[in-house]
Amino acid sequence: MPKPKAAFYWCASCGGCEEAVIDLAEDFLTIAGAFDFVFWPVAMDFKLKDVEVLQDGEITVSFINGGIRTSDQEHVAKLLRRKSALVVAFGSCAHLGGVPGLANFVKRSDIFEYVYHASPSVVNPDKKEPQELTNTKQGILTLPEFYDTVYTLDQVIDVDYYLPGCAPPPDLIMKAVAVILSGNLPAKGTVLAPDKSLCDSCRRKVTRPEKSVIREIRRVHEVLLDPDRCFLEQGIICLGPATRDGCGERCINANMPCRGCFGPTGGVQDQGAKFLSALASVIDANDEQEIKKITDSIVDPAGLFYFYSLPSSMLRGRRNV
Ligand code: SF4
Ligand code: SF4
Repeated sequence: MPKPKAAFYWCASCGGCEEAVIDLAEDFLTIAGAFDFVFWPVAMDFKLKDVEVLQDGEITVSFINGGIRTSDQEHVAKLLRRKSALVVAFGSCAHLGGVPGLANFVKRSDIFEYVYHASPSVVNPDKKEPQELTNTKQGILTLPEFYDTVYTLDQVIDVDYYLPGCAPPPDLIMKAVAVILSGNLPAKGTVLAPDKSLCDSCRRKVTRPEKSVIREIRRVHEVLLDPDRCFLEQGIICLGPATRDGCGERCINANMPCRGCFGPTGGVQDQGAKFLSALASVIDANDEQEIKKITDSIVDPAGLFYFYSLPSSMLRGRRNV
C-alpha cells in the first residue's frame, strides 16, 4: 500500500522550523518511514514541477513554515494548497507572522532604502535596487515581487491546522504527525497545543502577584534576575498571561521571559491587546502621571507586545495617517 505523501516548504522565516524537523533526531525516522516526501526543497532536490504533476489533493499533508512576503511564496503556497488534502501552518511565522512580521511597522520602500542604500555596510554608488524584470544578453531575468506587507499563511490560503512555536517543539510535532496519520482529525482550524495560558503551567506562577505590584518596568539586562520569581513580579515584561501553553516553558526555564511565540489562547483576537490588559491589572499606581511614567519606561511597547503576532493582530501593521 502506498504511503501518505508529505511536503515541507519554507516561506518568510529564519529556517529554524526546518531545523526543528531535523532536531526530532531518531523520531525523524518515524516520519520518514510513515510518509513519502514529495517536496522538501531545503533537504532534497525537488523541483516545482514535481508538485505540479501531482493530482489535486494527492499530498496528504503540507507543512508550510513562514509568512508570505513575496509573490513566489504566494505562488508555491497556493500550489501546495491545491495539491494537498491538509495544510498545517508550521511555526509562529506561518501561524502569526512571527518576527519577520515586525517589518509591517515599516513600508517596503523604507526597507529597500535601508537595505540597499542607508545601511553602513552598503556600497551602492549607482543606487541600484533589485528589479522584478532585468533584460540581459541571455534573456529576461525575473525576481519575485517583494510585497509591502507580511501576511500570515491563512491570510493567503486556507489553513487546516496550526502548529505553534518558534520553533514548534518536538513533542508537539510528533503528536501532530500521529493525529494526521490516525485520520482521527480535530476540528478544522485547531491550534495543535493546549488551550490554556503559559502562566497555568509555569512553575513561577506561585509567586505571580494577584494584586497590583509593578511600580517600574525594567529590561532583562538591567537586573539580576531571580530564577524562581515571576518575571512580572520583578518588573520584567513577560507575555505568559497572553500566550498559549505547550512549549514546555523553554524561555522561562532559561531564566528569560516569554515573548509570546505560541500566540494567544483560543478566542483571543489580539495577543498584544490581551497582554496590555493583563499588564494594566498589575501596575501599582492610580495617579495618571505616575502611570504614564511607568508605561513610558517600556521600550518599544508595540514591538514587544506584538513580537510574534503583528500580522495576525487587529493592527496588522503600522497605520499611516
Ligand atoms: S508572567 Fe511569566 S514568569 Fe510569571 S507566571 Fe506567567 S509565564 Fe511565569
Ligand atoms: S516561553 Fe514564550 S516565547 Fe519562549 S518558547 Fe515558550 S511560548 Fe515561546
